[in-house]
Amino acid sequence: MAKTIRSLQIRHVDAGSCNGCEQELTALTGRDYDIQSHGIDIVASPRHADSLIVTGPVTDTMALPLDRVWETIPRPKVKIAFGNCAIGTGVFQRAYASHGGLADSDIEIPGCPPHPETALRLLCEWMTSHRRSHHTYIS
Ligand code: SF4
Repeated sequence: MAKTIRSLQIRHVDAGSCNGCEQELTALTGRDYDIQSHGIDIVASPRHADSLIVTGPVTDTMALPLDRVWETIPRPKVKIAFGNCAIGTGVFQRAYASHGGLADSDIEIPGCPPHPETALRLLCEWMTSHRRSHHTYIS
């Protein structure tokens, strides 16, 4: 039986970020926002993850590693664009080595960089509005 998603184990990939987004991702794991208490955690290996969070506009050098990480994460899985660059509306969108962000994210967390409160709210809203099945909750 499909159940509401109650946790996300996130693998993060910096795909050409200026590091502003990483600062806010780090804040999410700290005392003030404490994402672990909401069932969300950042994990060290894609094999331990059920979601991928991407920061940055996806540069030429990071496009292939990003694909490999995504392929390594077992299904079901979800792709999260963190920040305007990853969404494709950021300041680096038209840079010469930029792929212009993700084309196929399931969750978009806007901002330059996003506020941790916004990120936490959007992730929690997504979890409560989706159900986990044995196969896939994201195509
Ligand atoms: S969205 Fe803003 S803070 Fe995040 S990587 Fe792009 S420029 Fe940096």
